[in-house]
Amino acid sequence: IKQVSMRIGRVLQEILPMIRNEAMLYNVTVLYYPKPELNSIVADKELLKQVFLNLGKNAIEAMNGGGTLIIRECSHPDQLGKIAVEISDTGTGISADALEKVFDPFFTTKPQGTGLGLSVCQRIVHDLGGNIEVSSDEEGTRFTVWLPNAAGES
Ligand code: ADP
Ligand code: MG
Repeated sequence: IKQVSMRIGRVLQEILPMIRNEAMLYNVTVLYYPKPELNSIVADKELLKQVFLNLGKNAIEAMNGGGTLIIRECSHPDQLGKIAVEISDTGTGISADALEKVFDPFFTTKPQGTGLGLSVCQRIVHDLGGNIEVSSDEEGTRFTVWLPNAAGES
């Protein structure tokens, strides 16, 4: 892995055009909330782009009749030394059963799915020292990607 210091906003800015194109095909509105005052992270930009593209694509695919995709940068006082990116959708949601398996390689509910997207995302984020959380209900789904910042706990 290439480890370079960067702002998370730069990573997201580079994939937003692709996300917006895909979203348009699904009648999905994309809202992006940057937070420029967040600390930098140390990561491999191309790998991180792959993570957020995968999460964005899944979110859009869960909103066939249209909806809203929200991409939000944030931090949390309980998670010192970390930044987060939330990818939230107003899609179908994930059943409690499926929720336990979404990160398993080859788990898919899509006719043409590979079931590899989330397992690859999780592997990349773990390799960068972070973690991915998911929560879902009938209103939609949220994936949160936590990444260590370059400043430590300050
Ligand atoms: P694939 O997209 O090829 O099915 P993934 O690993 O990317 O594989 O996702 C695995 C499964 O997790 C999907 O088939 C789907 O059932 C579920 N999933 C992932 N993201 C979402 C989401 N945002 N909303 C609803 N279901 C999702
Ligand atoms: Mg996928």
